[in-house]
Amino acid sequence: MEYISTRGGCPEQNFEQVLLTGLAPDGGLFVPKDLPKFTVGHLQKWQSLSYTELALEIIEPFVDGAIPSNELKKILDESYADFAHPDIAPLTEIGEREYLLELFHGPTLAFKDFALQVLGRLLDYVLERRKQRVVIMGATSGDTGSAALEGCRHSDHVDIFILHPHQRVSEVQRRQMTTVPGDNVFNLAIEGNFDDCQRLVKAAFADQSFLPEGRQLVAVNSINWARIMMQIVYYVWASLRLGALESKVSFSVPTGNFGDIYAGYLAKHMGLPIDRLVVATNKNDILHRFIAHNEYAVSELSPTFSPSMDILVSSNFERYLFELFNRDARQLGEFMNRFGSETLSVSDEQYRRIRAEFDSASVDDETTCQVIAEVFAATGQLLDPHTAVGVKAARECLADSANPKVVLATAHPAKFSAAITAAGLDSPALPAHLSDLMEREERVTVLPDDLSAVTAYMQEQL
Ligand SMILES: *Cc1c(COP(=O)(O)O)cnc(C)c1O
Repeated sequence: MEYISTRGGCPEQNFEQVLLTGLAPDGGLFVPKDLPKFTVGHLQKWQSLSYTELALEIIEPFVDGAIPSNELKKILDESYADFAHPDIAPLTEIGEREYLLELFHGPTLAFKDFALQVLGRLLDYVLERRKQRVVIMGATSGDTGSAALEGCRHSDHVDIFILHPHQRVSEVQRRQMTTVPGDNVFNLAIEGNFDDCQRLVKAAFADQSFLPEGRQLVAVNSINWARIMMQIVYYVWASLRLGALESKVSFSVPTGNFGDIYAGYLAKHMGLPIDRLVVATNKNDILHRFIAHNEYAVSELSPTFSPSMDILVSSNFERYLFELFNRDARQLGEFMNRFGSETLSVSDEQYRRIRAEFDSASVDDETTCQVIAEVFAATGQLLDPHTAVGVKAARECLADSANPKVVLATAHPAKFSAAITAAGLDSPALPAHLSDLMEREERVTVLPDDLSAVTAYMQEQL
């Protein structure tokens, strides 16, 4: 399997090369040159597999021999061994043919664990074989950071720097990052918002001359292809549990950087019978405005109860736009260059294709809290605010559909208790393995939103 860049200015790369980078050198994102396809026969065979067995079947064509099958199986088994639920990703019914896919049973209580537990181990395996040490650098709106630290901290082959927006993540999120021990672990609180952090990381990737000789940066954000690949698995898993062979399933996905829902889009194009894909956003609704009105334009950032989706520009959307432009890298490059300074739209034909694929909704904080209270009253199930946005979007967009609807439950409610108490409910307890989180010692360095301050700090630590 070869991977190509969405900007067309970079030779084809193999899985290992793509795993060890992030952004392509031409500024684009890597995508598979050809998407593997599966058939109804595969789905029938896969129905009886465990989660990790299914994961192996789905990712093997992407890994394409870079890691032997038995080693890959071991990595997957270890990655999901600490999940607190035997089904790894259980389904719970919350309404008429309406289900939550609970993706928060991993060690850091958000869906990011599904990919980052594996990514950390894939990196460790490959780096051990290459006798190489790398620098992991990532920006987080809250959940990627802790999941990346948890997935990578045991590796002897990495130093890991995580940038989060100072005072804009929840206390639980911050502590989950800043209390991780290890002299290869560095938390940087940047005086800015998440997009500022993302911009700093992008700039550091573009000029890595500040690193010691022989080191390179590796991305743990969802621009890293391996993360997307791992997220395809649970769409297939959920669909099989809900009878994918008899009826199509729709998914509503709380969306920030468009990584999670892009994995659903890929699952569909690989052969999974998916009906609708719903892009669920909070007030930061650039994708909703594009899908609903064919207007693609940046707006102002509004902090919300669902901070992991407080994002102005969704980095993975470029991967979808690449397909929308029929993989014409030049046309995409022109579109992206104009983006930011003007309001963009696509042709009528392209817009029809978007509407054939996606629905969308934007849900404000007040409605988010209402949904949390309603679902709790009706079912006893406590939703985290991101998941509540997904439930509301599903109810708005899929009301006419008789097919099963799955909302991705992307985080555990204890991670975002501000929304729960605002909904008039008791703040939920953290699971046992995090019960002393509030007493653990924190380590964090506050830095200005300035590239040279960040790279100078990194240089000192390396
Ligand atoms: C990261 C995150 C999202 C958004 O996922 P994307 O892949 O960035 O679209 C939604 N909910 C939670 C809880 C998250 O941590």
